[in-house]
Amino acid sequence: MKNCISCKKSTVNDGGAIAIACPQCSTELIRCGQCRKTAVSYKCKCNLEGP
Ligand SMILES: [Zn+2]
Ligand SMILES: [Zn+2]
Repeated sequence: MKNCISCKKSTVNDGGAIAIACPQCSTELIRCGQCRKTAVSYKCKCNLEGP
């Protein structure tokens, strides 16, 4: 199951959710449609933070 990196919400029923690769460590980061829309920042386990 995939959960949003920002709000930890499940993205199973979220059509707007996307997966991006962390530019630093290539970990898959999941962002839900809501967090994309509101530009919530995320923080990767490698401590990289992004918009
Ligand atoms: Zn989210
Ligand atoms: Zn990372």
